[in-house]
Amino acid sequence: MTNKIKSIISGLKDPDLNISLGELNSITNIEINDKQINIEIELVQPITWVIPQVESLIKAALASDFADYSININLTELVPEGPKRHILPNVKNIIAVASGKGGVGKSATAANLAAALSLNGSKVGILDGDVYGPSQPTMFGLVNKAFDVAEIEPGKPMAFPNENYGIKVASIGFILNRDEAAIIRGPLLAGYFSMLFEQVEWGDLDFLIFDLPPGTGDIQLTLTQKIPLSGAVIVTTPQEIAVSDVRRSIAMFDKVNVDILGIVENMSYFIPDDAPDKKYFIFGEGGGRRVAKDHGLNFLGDIPLTPSLRELSDNGKPAILDSSLDKNTQKAIMDITSNVITKLRKLNYEKITASNLEISI
Ligand code: ADP
Repeated sequence: MTNKIKSIISGLKDPDLNISLGELNSITNIEINDKQINIEIELVQPITWVIPQVESLIKAALASDFADYSININLTELVPEGPKRHILPNVKNIIAVASGKGGVGKSATAANLAAALSLNGSKVGILDGDVYGPSQPTMFGLVNKAFDVAEIEPGKPMAFPNENYGIKVASIGFILNRDEAAIIRGPLLAGYFSMLFEQVEWGDLDFLIFDLPPGTGDIQLTLTQKIPLSGAVIVTTPQEIAVSDVRRSIAMFDKVNVDILGIVENMSYFIPDDAPDKKYFIFGEGGGRRVAKDHGLNFLGDIPLTPSLRELSDNGKPAILDSSLDKNTQKAIMDITSNVITKLRKLNYEKITASNLEISI
């Protein structure tokens, strides 16, 4: 009987990787106790988002043949092997959110991505490295939570100070005020970043979202080289002038060998509350999708121009966490998040197969 169960499950596909669970060697154990079937499945990390999908796939596939049994599925994570990182050793995925220029909604996208990721039970942190305009303290309702830098002893771990909605938040804005941050250069700034990355105790995280400064200058290049990024999300608005800056961002990530998870187009269109059948393309149409296609990158999705998203952000809550956000914008953010997960899992799978290949050679 276990063989029959195994053969049924083997034919099901991992929804992100589109490869069968048999081919992936995902089934690690099947046991039958009386009227209960216990199934253990190992999936490429991060798994919190695929758990419900895979569980319901398996249950549906077994439903007709094993209607009298209760089915218990235990899903565990397969993590790419490799040496522990020196920086952020217990963070599984570090995702940079970048933009070619300021004002396109990079920080709002980063905040909503972090918040959406946390909704499925993942442990999430956000590190605001936008030296030109650190806005995560505002977006997470943590203004006036400055670190007292004088009290931080060099080299000593620093207990995590700031958290809201279950998400850990650290910002260059907790260390420096806006005007200071924008003019400080070089080694001093590097020291502050080391403090945020290495001294602050982030603990175990599934995801750390890293809100980069806009643009492609020296700071961005140093940060993307120094931090072991799992991948980058690039945010743009639809018009050509923004899209040309995106090309520079793409070139930067290529130069430092960081995988680009895809492009998000923000402020894509506007649907008025009082005329829901109308759609206005205020900043032009389709630039994000075009630039993604030109460069062979994923288009992760678009986010409409939504006044309540801005209001909620300004008042200290990522919009996706508030039930007042309209369904269309909610869906847009959730779809983007799910596309990010799919791409990350594909990359992690590639890493696992590459390291298995090394072992077998
Ligand atoms: P950036 O980080 O690219 O400089 P921000 O994320 O700070 O940009 O966004 C600039 C302003 O636009 C913020 O007030 C933010 O709340 C608002 N904003 C961002 N995206 C949207 C959107 N899709 N709809 C409405 N307002 C938005």
